[in-house]
Parts: sequence; C-alpha cells; structure tokens
Amino acid sequence: MKMFNKVLIANRGEIACRVIRSCQNLGVKTVAVFSDADEHALHTLMADEAVRIGASPSAESYLKYETIIEAAKQTSAEAIHPGYGFLSENTAFAEACAEAGIVFIGPSAEAINLMGDKAKAKALMDEASVPTVPGAYGSDLSEKDLKKAADKIGYPVLLKAVAGGGGKGMRVVEKATEFADAYAAAQREGESSFGNGEVMVEKYLGTPRHVEIQIFADSEGNCVYLFERDCSLQRRHQKVVEEAPAPHFSEDLRAQMGEAAVRAAQAVGYVGAGTVEFLLDGENFYFMEMNTRLQVEHPVTEAITGLDLVELQLSVAAGDTLPFTQEELTFEGHALEVRLYAEVPHENFMPSTGTLLHCKFPEENQYVRVDTGVVAGDTISHHYDPMIAKIITWGPTRNAALQYMQKALHDTQIVGVDTNAAYLANIMKYKDFAEGNVHTKLLERDQTAFLMPEIQHVDNQKLAALYWLETLAEHQPLSDDDPHSPWADMRGWRLGGSASIRIPFVDDELSAKAKGDNWAFDDGTVAHGTVYGEMVEAVIDGHKSVATIIEDEGALHVFSTFGHSILTLEPENELEADDTAVLGKLSAPLPGKVVKVTAKAGAKVEKGTSLMILEAMKTEHHITAPADGTVDELFFKVGETVDKDAVLLGFTPAAEKPEMAEKVAK
Ligand code: ADP
Repeated sequence: MKMFNKVLIANRGEIACRVIRSCQNLGVKTVAVFSDADEHALHTLMADEAVRIGASPSAESYLKYETIIEAAKQTSAEAIHPGYGFLSENTAFAEACAEAGIVFIGPSAEAINLMGDKAKAKALMDEASVPTVPGAYGSDLSEKDLKKAADKIGYPVLLKAVAGGGGKGMRVVEKATEFADAYAAAQREGESSFGNGEVMVEKYLGTPRHVEIQIFADSEGNCVYLFERDCSLQRRHQKVVEEAPAPHFSEDLRAQMGEAAVRAAQAVGYVGAGTVEFLLDGENFYFMEMNTRLQVEHPVTEAITGLDLVELQLSVAAGDTLPFTQEELTFEGHALEVRLYAEVPHENFMPSTGTLLHCKFPEENQYVRVDTGVVAGDTISHHYDPMIAKIITWGPTRNAALQYMQKALHDTQIVGVDTNAAYLANIMKYKDFAEGNVHTKLLERDQTAFLMPEIQHVDNQKLAALYWLETLAEHQPLSDDDPHSPWADMRGWRLGGSASIRIPFVDDELSAKAKGDNWAFDDGTVAHGTVYGEMVEAVIDGHKSVATIIEDEGALHVFSTFGHSILTLEPENELEADDTAVLGKLSAPLPGKVVKVTAKAGAKVEKGTSLMILEAMKTEHHITAPADGTVDELFFKVGETVDKDAVLLGFTPAAEKPEMAEKVAK
C-alpha cells in the first residue's frame, strides 16, 4: 500500500480525532492544528504534533488556509486531510495545496467546483443520464422565467440557492402567490451566506426519503459504490439519524442507484471518497447533490463493509489503485448512527454551551462505536458546531442494531450542557422508525412524540434523596429559627432518631425519618444507601440499585438503570430573579454574533416582534419583544460578538397593560 509519512489534519473535534486514529493504525505521523479555544482539545493531545493557527473564531483559525498550509510546510507534512465542513469543499484551498506541493486528500478543485453549484451539477447529471428532480435552472433564467417554470411544474415547488448548503438558502413555495417572497428570501440567503444569489426551482416532493450512495474512485479511473445510507431523519434539512443499508430497499434499486452514483462521479473525473445524495420517492430516485468529501455519517458504511474509509482515502491520495472491484464488495448486518448534540430540544433546539462537568459514553465493543472530540472538563463553545459525539451501533439485523442503540443512549451520561439524548431515545422507540418507515418529514411531523420527557422513575428520586441525606444534609447550616430544635443541626439526626427531615427537592415533596440503619420515607419506602464519590449504592424496599449522581448548579443528576433524572434543589437563597429586571433589558441567551438588527431606538413594538438576530453555532436566534413596549437603546451593531447574558438592548414594556403591570409590580 502506498502511504504518506506525515499528514496534517485541517479540522477539529471528532473528525480530527477519527482521522488521527486511522493514521496511527497505519503508522502515519500526524499534525493537528488548533485555535486558542482548542489548545487543550483532544485532537491536539492525540496528534504527534500540534500547531496553533489563530484565535477561536473559525474565520481566524480553521478557515485560514494560508496559515494551515504554512503549518504543513513547517512540519513537513506531505498531505492535508480536510475532514468535513471548514475547508473540505473549498477550491481555493485545494488549489493552494497543489501549488505548495502538498497533497490535498480529496478530489480536484475542478470537481469540487462543478459539484458545489447545484445548477451546474444538475446540468451535468442530465448529460450523464442520472435522473434529477424536474425543475429549471441556469444563470440566464430570470425570476420571471423561474416563476413560469414553477407554474408549469405545479405547486408546491422548492427554490434553492445554487450555492446553498446545510439546508440554507432553500424555500418551499406552497402556491403561486408566495413565489415572489420566497424567491427574494432564497436569493438573499444565497447572497449573504454563500456570496451567490443565483436561485433554481424544482418540484417539491411530499414525503421522500434521503438515500445517498458512498462512492470511491482512484486516479486511474476506477470507481465503485460502497452501498447506500438512509439519512431521512432530518430536522430543518439537517441529518439527525443515519443508517446503512436503507430499510425496505431492494437489491435492484441498490444496483440502479449505485450505478447512477458512479456515473455521476465519473462525469466530473472524481477521485477519492464522495457521496451522491438522492431523493427517493417510491421507487423513483433523483440526484440532489454530490458532497466531495467524507461525510459525518461515514461510520455506518464502515460498520457494514468492514472498511476504514480514511485509510482508503489516504492510500488513494497517495496514488494507490482501489484494492477491490465492485463485484468483490459486500456488506453485512445493519448499522445506525445518532448525532448527540449540545442543544435544548424544548427551546427549539437552541444550542447549549458550557463545560462538560461529567461526560461518559457507552463502552465501545464490536457492536458500539463512539466518535467524539471531547472529554469531561472540555467546553462546548459557541465558536463551533455543538455536536458532542456520534454514537454508532452495528448488529446482524436492524432490530439488533436498534437495541444496541437504545442501550448505548441509556449508557450516555452528560452533565454541564443540555443534550438531545432523550429526543434520540424517543426516536429509537418510535413505531414508524422501528419499522423502517422513514421519510424526510417524519421528525417534524411527529415532533411532539420525540419531545416527550423521559419517564421519571420514583427510585431515581429515592437515590437522589439518599445521596442528599448521606452527604449534603451534613453541610446544611443550623436553622436560624430555632437553633435548639432537635433537627436543626442535621449532623445529630441519627441520634435524635425520630425527627423527620425534609429533602429540599423543588418539584418532589419528600421527607424521611431515620429508622435504625434505614431511612423511612413519608411514602412508605424504606431504604438505605452508601455514597462512594459520585456513586451511590442503595437498597430500596429490598431492591439493590447503583447510580451515578452528579451535582450541577443546584440540581442532582441521577444516572441509573431507571434512566436519567434531574432533581432540582431549592436554592439556599430563596430570592428569585426579579421579573422587572428581565423585562427592562433583553440579554443574549447564548454567546454569538449579531447578524441583523431590526429594532430602532425609540420604536414602539408589539410582543413577539423580532428585534435582533444572533447567530451562534450556525443557527439563527431571534431576540423578540417579551411584551408590547418601546425599544430604548441598542447596545450592539451587526457584526459584533456578544457573550452569553450580555445586555443587547434596553426595553420598556407598555405598563398600562394590566397583566404586564401585575408582572412588573411583583
Ligand atoms: P443542502 O445542500 O443545503 O444540504 P440539499 O439539496 O442536499 O441541500 O437538500 C437537503 C434536504 O432538503 C434533503 O435531504 C431533503 O430532505 C430536502 N430536499 C431537497 N430537495 C428537495 C425536493 N425537491 N423535494 C423535497 N425535499 C427536498
């Protein structure tokens, strides 16, 4: 096998760690790059060398390709692996690598360019007899032409910014009268996010599946397909759950789509790993786009084929011929992947930032794989994508993979940021998903089912109570009211015996009395427990259980066989935030960058009006008026970055409104 001596990884997080791992298996030396925020990140520790490339914002580090190429030269790296995102589909970077005599692990700049433009790619596919969604495209088409085409195709139609990606720049048009507004929005988003306002139109399919084909090509013109992945479970066009092979998918369709994907790759002289994305509507499939890089979800393909795609990428980039023909390729079993995000599903999936106080993933074995770039103590910062980890399971059947995934999610413990773990667990339990009846609208259509909170097991409450009684109660101050009461000094309770102690959980009224070596709870439960660090070992009504308990911001997180529960403790100081303070100013819910200011100082606005838009971790957040009122003052301009809780603008609610006045007076 041809191989490099040293490779630089122009990325961070789980993908950087994952590429480093493959390099290490091959004996290839690795160079990591890092921003200030990532000085202590896992990828910098795993690599043989690590080079600082700039400040925390990606524009000042991971996107600065001259600096990265300089780092490769300095460390004598022969090749650069771009991972996904950042510079992976940047033609200028691919060209600059070539000029510097460094191998860019990916296709040619020309192929990236052709596939980066949805309209150009579609034209090419039409030539290569790869089916595309009916529509109209071309830089010579005016808004009027596109409207005419839309009327002919029939509504609903989808407008797409040709340079769009990551679900941005797309607008569904339900009827002709909505066309103009949607067109303007798609054009604006294409212009502002990708520097290209060109828009195309296509038929909007109702409930299609997203099925993509992994292809691999070498520099001698050999090209194979490594089967399909179903990525239909998406939220706002972003993938959440992926699997391989696709459920309810015939051999015949597999061959047809695989061959079409190979034609697509060959049409642009593709070299390396690539993914051809299709929409599948019944048995009809349509080319959507080609991603000229490794995909986030590549592990499910690895799991069913037994191949290491990064190893293949390196060897093909080093000039090797593909080690197999299409006929030699097979797959076995079924694999699932979920993306574990730091986000708050109940608050419209707002990203959650913070330090990972506790971070435990399921144990890896032949059925479970975890790709991550973080460990406990690391920070999920607003500078980058809030993905914490990818969890991948494999089983001989889809059902087995699903069972392993349920267990793997159950065994995942994160404290410090909110996560979508319960949301993912709900998806795994959902009937349509279990039966493989997936489509791209499923997550949004049945959202309430996926947002259901975990059922709180009463034993988790007891485990937390025992932990509190055995550790925290001892630290409680003496009661101010009656220092001589028998249970004012809780350190003495065991001797006092019969006094009842109230456990200060906010939502779960509970008290207990010492009874011999046990605690007798007021609901009749009798239990005792011993605390060892973060573990509590207990016997509750004669049944043994063990839990990990983590204290965070006045709450106890319990992880046990009964699942994850959070028990909030009453604050020691009962004073709560004053509503007037909240209404008097509007602050940033999370750190980010101001991308739009719609409010004007002095303007009267209605409740719910968008006043400002913050962008954080690739998502836009609207700061809206909490009530009817007046904007007093603006503290930030477009382009400025804000910290969490920074006061963004002054706001006075209209006091004459009775319910408002009442709130303010409280
Ligand atoms: P991006 O480049 O932003 O990822 P894609 O063209 O890959 O955009 O489309 C992303 C997702 O949008 C698809 O997976 C699918 O769910 C949806 N989508 C795209 N085109 C259509 C269409 N014509 N009809 C219905 N859904 C579509």
